[in-house]
Amino acid sequence: MTKNKAGRVLVVGSINMDMVAHAPRLPAPGETLTGDAFVMAPGGKGGNQAVAAARLKAEVDFVARVGMRQYGGELLQALAAEGVACDAVVRDAAALPGIAVIMVGSSDGENSIVYVPGSNADLSAADVQAAAATVRAAAVVVAQLEVPLEAIQAAFELARKSGAVTVLNAAPALALPAGLLSLTDWLVLNETEAHQLAGRPHVETADLAEPVDVLAQARLAAAQLLQSGVKQVLITLGADGALLCTNEAMQHFPVLPVRAIDTVGAGDTFVGGLVTGLAEGMTAADAVRLGQAAASIAVSRSGVQAAMPRRAELA
Ligand code: ADP
Repeated sequence: MTKNKAGRVLVVGSINMDMVAHAPRLPAPGETLTGDAFVMAPGGKGGNQAVAAARLKAEVDFVARVGMRQYGGELLQALAAEGVACDAVVRDAAALPGIAVIMVGSSDGENSIVYVPGSNADLSAADVQAAAATVRAAAVVVAQLEVPLEAIQAAFELARKSGAVTVLNAAPALALPAGLLSLTDWLVLNETEAHQLAGRPHVETADLAEPVDVLAQARLAAAQLLQSGVKQVLITLGADGALLCTNEAMQHFPVLPVRAIDTVGAGDTFVGGLVTGLAEGMTAADAVRLGQAAASIAVSRSGVQAAMPRRAELA
């Protein structure tokens, strides 16, 4: 890695406004319920991972599309306040940004979500190519699957040419073209996504009399995913930690025991830490440990971006 690239992360991804209404329970179809709290907060996997990495002291650039018709200004301001550079974010005056309307039933923690992708769905290969200089400046390029695959493919093609490490967080799970996988150095996914992408049935322990061996199941999914040509597959396993697999070796990283109170966004914090470590030139194992340390703090607090730790908090 050339010296001036060290620590530089480029995120290609989504940016959303999350609108969360809490009520005693979820309403039935057609029912109106009185809620007890409402919170509006910036989200989207791209935005979340950008913030997670910036808090851990990565220098973060963001390639995205944000609709400015409503909330776009607030979303950009929030990213800037976190130190995320948004020069390469395309502002679309006529569009709405991605919006997630989330209802949470307090009695059982169940939620229902309507996600309207808005401007995230319009990010194009041409938008990415217009930001080619920014992509080339990065040590690590990371993308998730809330923006079109053609934009990710364009970013990874530029990254390959400039020698950057490419990290694809395959969330939410989608079938991935072989051309994109062949440009991917790290495929990062949670347990559910890994089994979906590997085409394996995902068996929940709760459905069985005998507990399933989570790690053994994940090893099988990883072996299958490695056949797609990616160099590293990293499967996050919630409280069971993470499994890093290459064609040569598989390594399990158990988590530090913490009292988890809100695991929403754990994966985004983890990826933010992983890419920060990789951009700094850490070994794969140390970068995974940085992701885990950050995620273990985030799950012990409530909120998504609000829960993400700063580097100084990681002892
Ligand atoms: P996602 O949010 O994508 O579903 P996971 O639930 O697999 O991702 O969590 C990502 C990472 O967050 C885990 O690998 C682990 O490091 C950390 N994590 C998640 N849940 C817990 C938990 N209950 N205790 C400690 N760490 C956790």
